[in-house]
Amino acid sequence: MTTNLLDFDIDGLTAWFAQLGEKPFRARQVLSWMHRFGVDDFGQMTDVAKSLRAKLTETAEIRGPVPVRDSMAADGTRKWLLDVGQGNAVETVFIPEAGRGTLCVSTQVGCALECAFCSTGRQGFNRNLSTAEIIGQLWHANRVLGAVKQPGVGDPRERVISNVVLMGMGEPLANYDNVVAALRLMLDDHAYGLSRRRVTVSTAGMVPAIDRLREDCPVALAVSLHAPTDALRDELVPLNKKYPLAELMAACRRYLENAPRDFITFEYVLLADVNDRDEDARALSKLVRDIPCKFNLIPFNPFPDSGFRKPSMERVRRFQAILMNADIVTTVRKTRGDEIDAACGQLAGQVRDRTKRRSVELHPEAIAQ
Ligand code: SAH
Repeated sequence: MTTNLLDFDIDGLTAWFAQLGEKPFRARQVLSWMHRFGVDDFGQMTDVAKSLRAKLTETAEIRGPVPVRDSMAADGTRKWLLDVGQGNAVETVFIPEAGRGTLCVSTQVGCALECAFCSTGRQGFNRNLSTAEIIGQLWHANRVLGAVKQPGVGDPRERVISNVVLMGMGEPLANYDNVVAALRLMLDDHAYGLSRRRVTVSTAGMVPAIDRLREDCPVALAVSLHAPTDALRDELVPLNKKYPLAELMAACRRYLENAPRDFITFEYVLLADVNDRDEDARALSKLVRDIPCKFNLIPFNPFPDSGFRKPSMERVRRFQAILMNADIVTTVRKTRGDEIDAACGQLAGQVRDRTKRRSVELHPEAIAQ
């Protein structure tokens, strides 16, 4: 079987090269060709010995994702639907902003967590993405956006994609090993060389994995909070029954002991008349009292049959003001790309649920195009 070299971080690739009898610096060379320069053909790796190139062509491949749809919104947000086989597809979103570009990456086909207000959660779960499929999203976007550099040409500090957020489909920390290998590639100077502070893992609150991440690969951490009490959070984020708020808050404090940024970002989706009352904001400020943090409020992005509503802008501002009065930096997330269903919680891709409620695909048209 041919080995897809996109599946390896530097340690994995070095080990794989070692069993071919090749030195570690060869692994670094090939890693750069693949990720910095976006090359998928061993023949183009001009500083790699011809005999090794031939050996690699025989035994290995650099196989990126297969795009089946490419949509662009008026605000420049761009979304790719990527075929991951067997009728499944995941989504990746690029969000350009002044001075930075953020890529929102998926980590699973579907999601098993069943958060009540999330369209990915409604679709059920199929499987984890491999390391190649996760890093392949960045690899692909870099190539399409013209961000790959010719060796020795251009300023490597000018990055089209300066930030990566693992906020697409799936729960990153439920796919721990593959996600950590992909994170290492994002940070590796021989690959994407992104700053730890500009790579964000977003989690619904998998406490043991938050502790592991702090040791294995600390990056910026965002936690999807969504409720100030266990009673409400049990309803909205069922994972809370396993890791309730007190444990989650303790894990956030521990994470900060070894984090590249000195605060946690709490994401909070605002659902009209569910979690958007003044008293919810006040309870939140108490809950996070001893955690350096910022809040990012996300007005609910609707999808068909969700059963939830978006609050008025007035309500959103009022909620924000209460948190700000408690000295918590609070931003409201701008909705980007909603006309192409690229906004938070709208990513649906194509998931053949292998776990439960649905056995047939929801969007057959998505993959037909
Ligand atoms: N599983 C991870 C990664 C998903 S990130 C996590 O839960 O953090 C996607 C973010 O968008 C999360 O904060 C999620 O709660 C939020 N979200 C999900 N559905 C949404 C919706 N319909 N409207 C607005 N935000 C939503």
